[in-house]
Amino acid sequence: MPLHRQILLALILGIALAIGLHWVDAALQAQVLFVTSLVGTLFLNALKAVAIPLVVVTLISGVGGLDQRLGRLGSITMSYYIGSTLLAVLTGLLIANLLTPGLGITPPDGGWLANSVVPAHLVAASSDTSPWTAALLLLVPSNLFAAASDGNLLALIVFALLFALALRTLPNAQRQLQRQFWDGLHHILLTVTLWVLKVAPIGVLALVCTSASQMGWAALKPLAMLMFSVLLALLMHATVNLGFILWRVARVRLRDHASAMSPALWMAFSSASSSATLPVTLRCLHDRAGVDKGVTGLTVPLGTSMNMDGTALYECVAVLFLAQLLGFDLSLAEQLIVVALSLATTLGMAGIPSASLVAIAVILDRVGLPPEALGLLLITDRPLDMARTAVNVWSDSVAARVVERFYISDTPQDSEANA
Ligand code: ASP
Repeated sequence: MPLHRQILLALILGIALAIGLHWVDAALQAQVLFVTSLVGTLFLNALKAVAIPLVVVTLISGVGGLDQRLGRLGSITMSYYIGSTLLAVLTGLLIANLLTPGLGITPPDGGWLANSVVPAHLVAASSDTSPWTAALLLLVPSNLFAAASDGNLLALIVFALLFALALRTLPNAQRQLQRQFWDGLHHILLTVTLWVLKVAPIGVLALVCTSASQMGWAALKPLAMLMFSVLLALLMHATVNLGFILWRVARVRLRDHASAMSPALWMAFSSASSSATLPVTLRCLHDRAGVDKGVTGLTVPLGTSMNMDGTALYECVAVLFLAQLLGFDLSLAEQLIVVALSLATTLGMAGIPSASLVAIAVILDRVGLPPEALGLLLITDRPLDMARTAVNVWSDSVAARVVERFYISDTPQDSEANA
């Protein structure tokens, strides 16, 4: 059975197991959940462990082998990121205004805010430094190893880029030697990823069973309209907006690309972490979609921390939903501030579960909404996180296709020839 089918089957079995656990006694339930959460964590840890060195090595080996038009590659990549995220947020804005998910819901006894419990660090985040300053500070860490252990991808990307650029200035013989070394390392890490992927179905089953059993399904009901709006907007963005870009700009069929990327998409969905999915995304782009290593080396690591379409869209819909629910009438100008902040806060965000809650706390504060309202979003966060993470990874993969198309159609010979 192909890997993506195995992962999908594991996902369904994971949900079935979580449902089945309701009928067994509490002790057995606790034991099963202990095992699933241990196995899920082990699997995620293995992926995260390989993700950090893989980012650095892929960038150095990929960019080090590119020809002189690196600046052009970088500018196409950045234009795509900004353009696609803006499209995503505007889709969210449109759906939130058309469906008005926050209107017409009866508040529970004691009102909405009384029921929301927000972790203190999220409220504190709202009064912290501006998102721009925070993103800038992430770029230049004082300690590279600390940045790696904090999972600060942006800092590693900047460093790896500088390293790759410096590598290109070496005399020919030394440059060849360096390139062989980094290419070998790249191959080794991708092989380790492949081995980890062999147990992906077990990992996914465990992850999905753990998170599905923790979801309070009954509590999701009053927020059904929010979930519907977010899922609809995500689907529209992934298929209509990005589908159009794939078709017209990258000239790739949506179905072909989706089938090549399916293991990564299911992985993103089950783990709710685009950073943990990064090795799988790279593997799918290389092996299944056949995208050039130089292109993926730049676009995927950078995209994982700078291109979060699903997250930005969610932030926008969630803030408008809370405003509607609490009776705040946001003017068009205020809604555009929400759009700008949704875009800005995703730059440099960590690709981990629930990362966008901090950003939403910041936006709520900036537009004058009570940060405690965030508590309501905690109820629906996991399922929506799974969906938006899949869209984040999908958009990164579309970026690789778009950039490759421009790059390859522009390249007279294979980049290898320029070594
Ligand atoms: N979980 C998302 C990701 O890893 C980030 C978020 O939206 O919270 O891409």
